[in-house]
Amino acid sequence: TFILAIESSCDETAASVVKNGRTILSNVISSQIALHTLYGGVVPEIASRKHIEKINQVIEEALSEANVTLDDLDAIGVTYGPGLVGALLVGVAEAKAIAYAKKLPLVGVHHIEGHVSANYIEHPDLEPPFLCLIVSGGHTHLVIVKDYGEFEILGRTRDDAAGEAFDKVARAIGLGYPGGPKVDKLAREGNPDAIVFPKGKLGDCPYDFSFSGVKSAVLNYINNAQMKGEEINRADLAASFQKSVVDVLVEHTMLAAKDYHMDKIAIAGGVASNGALREAMTKACEKRGYKFYRPSPIFCTDNAAMIGVAAYYEYIKGTRHGWDLNAVPNLKLGER
Ligand code: ATP
Ligand code: MG
Ligand code: FE
Repeated sequence: TFILAIESSCDETAASVVKNGRTILSNVISSQIALHTLYGGVVPEIASRKHIEKINQVIEEALSEANVTLDDLDAIGVTYGPGLVGALLVGVAEAKAIAYAKKLPLVGVHHIEGHVSANYIEHPDLEPPFLCLIVSGGHTHLVIVKDYGEFEILGRTRDDAAGEAFDKVARAIGLGYPGGPKVDKLAREGNPDAIVFPKGKLGDCPYDFSFSGVKSAVLNYINNAQMKGEEINRADLAASFQKSVVDVLVEHTMLAAKDYHMDKIAIAGGVASNGALREAMTKACEKRGYKFYRPSPIFCTDNAAMIGVAAYYEYIKGTRHGWDLNAVPNLKLGER
């Protein structure tokens, strides 16, 4: 089974050919980061225009790298939500056009289901059920993956997503966009115990998250230092902020694993490429005898390979979308 997958939900134009669900024949990503850096964040209108410019070229590259033609394909998979509406529409329209012209089944994919599915690529033994911590630019969910594409949401963020918190703190200390990887890098030179930031704890739901408190604490810390005319050690600040976020992510995940008797733990989304989170999760899982799964960093951030994997499992379950498939910017996990 050959699936061509297309991803254009944010600022990456991506296409991939996936064979039999887990073998990635190509994974082409055209990132717009350089373009949006000028503005300190993603500008939706610019993103849409750039997707239109790049998408055909990215698909052609994905096909030729995989050494297949459109005639070899069995289905077209595409992200139809959540994300920026104008950006999503480019991928959806393209996927519909190819599927219609080639009389191929069209399979719409939930972007977050894609992030979770990135774990299947390099772990042939991984099968549901397992516990997954989803940490991306727009989402922070703790879920049980009950079956392919079936999720039980145990907890979620009440305010900022984890990636969003990284991006906001990065901006506050002048690291620019995208902040996550830059905080990660700078934190390696800092002392994570230098500053104690609050950990977002919520009494009523132990699996929920809150990152606005730590973000405000970082901003206050910077303001106070500036008022007193003191130098800030940015590396210590980055390391301490990162520690407080990572600690909570790991603690809540371990609590859920214990409560729900899960011994397979996975992480997904852009923040899953964070060095400190990967290290802390590895240690916590080792200590408890859990098996820990994580995608390589290139499959953590947005890509089409993960969409192809998710599309495959939807395809074999019989999921098909019609020519009326539309972009759904606020598509909820588990919705179709
Ligand atoms: P979503 O998937 O929720 O729709 P998105 O697609 O914009 O959002 P992703 O591409 O999954 O998000 O991840 C991007 C986010 O991950 C950004 O917030 C970025 O700062 C963060 N991120 C990427 N690498 C790292 C890292 N090494 N450490 C921390 N955060 C990171
Ligand atoms: Mg991105
Ligand atoms: Fe994403």
